[in-house]
Amino acid sequence: MPPQFSDLAWPDVATYRIANARVPLCFVAAPHGFTPQNNAQDREDGTALIDILIGNGRIERLAQAGTSPTDQRPSVDLNGRQVWPMLIDAHTHLDRGHTVVRSPNVSGMFKDALLATAADRPKWTHEDLLTRMDFGVRCAYAHGVSAIRTHLDSVPEQAKRSWPAFREMREQWKGRVALQAVSLLPIDFFRGEWGDQLAKLVAESGGVLGAVTRAAAASGHGAPLDDLDVLLDRLFGLAAAHDLDIDLHVDETNDPRSAALPYVARAALRHNYRDRVTCGHCCSLAVQPDDEANRTLDLLAEAGVAVITLPTVNLYLQDRGSGRTPRWRGVTLVHEMRKRGIAVAAAGDNCRDCFYAYGDHDMIDTFRQAVRILHLDHPLAEAPALVGPAPARITKLTEQGRIAVGDPARLIAFNARTLNEVVSRHQADRVVIDGRRTVARVPDYSELWDNALVSGVPA
Ligand SMILES: [Zn+2]
Repeated sequence: MPPQFSDLAWPDVATYRIANARVPLCFVAAPHGFTPQNNAQDREDGTALIDILIGNGRIERLAQAGTSPTDQRPSVDLNGRQVWPMLIDAHTHLDRGHTVVRSPNVSGMFKDALLATAADRPKWTHEDLLTRMDFGVRCAYAHGVSAIRTHLDSVPEQAKRSWPAFREMREQWKGRVALQAVSLLPIDFFRGEWGDQLAKLVAESGGVLGAVTRAAAASGHGAPLDDLDVLLDRLFGLAAAHDLDIDLHVDETNDPRSAALPYVARAALRHNYRDRVTCGHCCSLAVQPDDEANRTLDLLAEAGVAVITLPTVNLYLQDRGSGRTPRWRGVTLVHEMRKRGIAVAAAGDNCRDCFYAYGDHDMIDTFRQAVRILHLDHPLAEAPALVGPAPARITKLTEQGRIAVGDPARLIAFNARTLNEVVSRHQADRVVIDGRRTVARVPDYSELWDNALVSGVPA
């Protein structure tokens, strides 16, 4: 019997070999020369057995297992267990995280989440933001996340507090977790001069321009969409003027009349913004008539708009009613998008706040839940792409979410040979490698219990 995972001796040096690692080929930047091994499971999983040579904390060489040159470097033999890159969480809300105790959402419903967040926001001081954001990023890093895009509530007064706190956090985590930020506020705010000021602030902060299209707006039904084109033109114009990518919250509702998505796609076409626009959620697309949904999907493909699906939070918020069993899973049309070549990533979204009461910034948890909620299985081979290469493409973060020669060796090793084993267990014993095996652990909840600012309970 091969040694147990917990008995493996990881070399505590920066130059070593990981032998007999099984990698999903969708993560390997140049998979030439690596063919799935001659067994049915590797072919089905799209995995190959390789040796990873690490030199001074970087990936020096990838080779078919057993063919790497034998030199003096120490080695750990994984016996065919899986190795993934550290992952990218491309849509989060670090600024809202871990407020669940002091500002609970009493009903768990979307409308109450909006109210509870607005009521909590005055507490978002510089110190409060830094404490909660740092707690969140430490959770993520310990779980094997190396890049996070967070939306930041950017209504006028809040933006002036949140963006400086974010910049400080980004500096603090540089080299370990790459942080990106997106502005978040109702798109109507772009009508006035705050739009100009915010675009400037976002540009100065190296961020992405974002907003929420109206939640329940449909031509001829709810709030009129007459001026959505005007507002989108304004937002796209500001983005172009400052050379900013765009990331929007779109149609996060089960109301089929909410159909802002085609408006966004047409704006991307008008403004020549191919491969620069991302839409999060897009839930209502899944409850619209097939012909309408298909037209929108074709438009997204034509416009080069990417989509991020947030399955855990959609499952929690969508179709929720007091004392009523939900009838649908809340997620957008991921299979149909991928069939059309639309870039689709899965991400975590909220964590322990009014919009989602649970979570731990763990992209493996997000991945495992995405597989189940979205049926990304049978086969599982393409599923890992949603948490590695797809979010890397959307965030334009190089050297992230992939395994490539020359990149820093940021990897996750699992006690699992097959994707089935990765999906079946929580992977609580995963080994995170940042150059060498990290000693990072998730922060203790007691840090928050004892913090009067965060708990809302005076010390
Ligand atoms: Zn969100």
